[in-house]
Amino acid sequence: MEMTPSSEICSVKVALHIRPLVADERLQGCKDCVSVVPRLPQVQIGTHSFTFDHVYGNGGAESSAMFEQCVAPLVDGLFQGYNATVLAYGQTGSGKTYTMGTGFKDGCQTGLIPQVMDTLFNKIETLKHQTEFQLHVSFIEILKEEVKDLLDSASESKSVVANGHTAKVAAPGKPTIQIREASNGVITLAGSTEVAVSTLQEMAACLEKGSLSRATGSTNMNNQSSRSHAIFTITLEQMRKLHSVSPVNDTPDEDMGEEYFCAKLHLVDLAGSERAKRTGTGGLRLKEGIHINKGLLALGNVISALGDEKKRKEGMHVPYRDSKLTRLLQDSLGGNSKTVMIACISPADINAEETLNTLKYANRARNIQNKPVANR
Ligand code: ADP
Ligand code: MG
Repeated sequence: MEMTPSSEICSVKVALHIRPLVADERLQGCKDCVSVVPRLPQVQIGTHSFTFDHVYGNGGAESSAMFEQCVAPLVDGLFQGYNATVLAYGQTGSGKTYTMGTGFKDGCQTGLIPQVMDTLFNKIETLKHQTEFQLHVSFIEILKEEVKDLLDSASESKSVVANGHTAKVAAPGKPTIQIREASNGVITLAGSTEVAVSTLQEMAACLEKGSLSRATGSTNMNNQSSRSHAIFTITLEQMRKLHSVSPVNDTPDEDMGEEYFCAKLHLVDLAGSERAKRTGTGGLRLKEGIHINKGLLALGNVISALGDEKKRKEGMHVPYRDSKLTRLLQDSLGGNSKTVMIACISPADINAEETLNTLKYANRARNIQNKPVANR
C-alpha cells in the first residue's frame, strides 16, 4: 500500500538569518545597519520594518534553535511521508552556504544539513526494529538553466537512476540530467547519480564530494560566489510491517501486511540574489545572472501562487514550469509539502540595498501563508 498524506496544507515558513559583520566588512569600516526588535521576530533597516516567523542572529545557540524550529519538523515529516524543501535565499556573501552547510571551510563544516543528517540517523536507529529503511542522496546544481550532477564521476560505480533505467555515465561536468514528471506527479531526475547510503559517514561523504565539485566563479562580491542553485536531496523509503496488537498482552499477533512510504527532503542553496550588474563582469557572467534571476523569479511566483488559498481553490495555475528550479521542486513545494525559506542577510551598510531586496522578497513569500502569524 502506498500512503499519501491527505491533509491539504500549504505552509511556507520564512526565517531570517543575519550573519555577523565579516572581517572584510570590518576592515572597510562598515556599520551594522540592521536592528532586531527585542523579543520580536522583527527587523528594521532605515525606515523599513519586516516581521518573519523567526529571526536568528549568529552563534551556536541560534544555529541549533534555527534547526529545531525550522528544519527538525520537516525531518519528522519525512518519516510520515511528507516531502519538504528548505531554501536558503540571499545575495552572494550573505551566508547561504554557511547556513545550509553545503560548503567546507578549512575542513570545518557548519550548517543545517549536518544537523539534518544527525537527526535522521538517530531517528532511524530508534525505529529500525519495526521499519526497514532505504536512503538515497543526490546532489545537483542548476546553472544557466541546465541541471548538472555534482556526484557524478566516471571512476565511481553509480547506482541506477530514475524509473529503473540505468543512465549512461556522463562526462564530468556535462549536463545530461532531465527533469521528468511521472503520471502520479512524482518528479524524477533521469540521469542523475543516486547514491544509496546506509551510514552517516556515507551521506556526509556525498555532501562533501558534491560541495567540492560545485561550480564557482569569481565576481566582485566574493571570489567563492556561486551563480548556481545547489540542491542536496535525501530520499527516505520506509517499509513498515503492520501488526494487529493483542489487547491482552500488548504483543503483536497477526501480520497485517506492510506500509510503504517514500518522501524526499530538498536542501537548496540558492544562487546569489544580487542583480547581475553588481557582479561587474558583464559578458558571460551577465548571461548567467539573467538565468539565475529566472529561477529566483519563478520561485517567488510559485510560492506566491501557492499561498493564495482562494485562488488555489479556484484551480489557479501555479507556474512551476517557468524554470528548472521550480520544475524540479514541483512535488516538494506546495500541496502536502512543507517549505522553509531562510533569508540570509549581511548587516553591513554597504549591502543595505541588496539586504532590503532580500527582505522584500522574503516578506512576499511570508505574506502569502494560509495563516499568517499576527504581528504581536
Ligand atoms: P553565500 O553562500 O551566501 O555566498 P557564505 O555562506 O559563503 O555566503 O558566507 C560568506 C562569508 O561569511 C563566509 O566567509 C562565511 O564563513 C561567513 N559567514 C556566513 N554566515 C556566518 C555566520 N552566521 N557566522 C559567522 N560567519 C558567517
Ligand atoms: Mg555560497
